[in-house]
Amino acid sequence: MKCPNCSCLDSKVIDSRLSEDGRSIRRRRECTECARRFTTYESMESPPIYIVKKSGVREEFNTLKLKNGILKACEKRPVSIPAIDDLVNKIERALCNSLDQEISSQFIGDMVMSGLKNIDDVAYVRFSAVYKEFRDVETWFAEMEDFLQGKKENNV
Ligand SMILES: [Zn+2]
Repeated sequence: MKCPNCSCLDSKVIDSRLSEDGRSIRRRRECTECARRFTTYESMESPPIYIVKKSGVREEFNTLKLKNGILKACEKRPVSIPAIDDLVNKIERALCNSLDQEISSQFIGDMVMSGLKNIDDVAYVRFSAVYKEFRDVETWFAEMEDFLQGKKENNV
């Protein structure tokens, strides 16, 4: 990165953060020569991540879509937006850290389920009701039974 002031090629990164869409990294740099500070935007080297549905259909991973799905499950529930954003970020990071460019929809669904389980019971059940389409119904029923059983035991 060339300093806009003295053209020195050496700079140190003083701050970096992921852009909103998760596709680029904004870096605040400081020239080691003249101490001038400047910002660079670097696109991520990693190619887009694809979600492979049960049907085999491939779809580019979309953070907004994931967030909307979670928001929908949390509708009219006492769940804060930061809590939802936290979960979305956590999932996004897990996907970016994965070396696979193709991720099964079940992998993401499982992450959302385990995240919602800790956030809100109703949101968890709602999401799993939608999500069950992606897996076999029997597994879903077994999980719901376990979940409800656990709730009952906790209430005694
Ligand atoms: Zn400089």
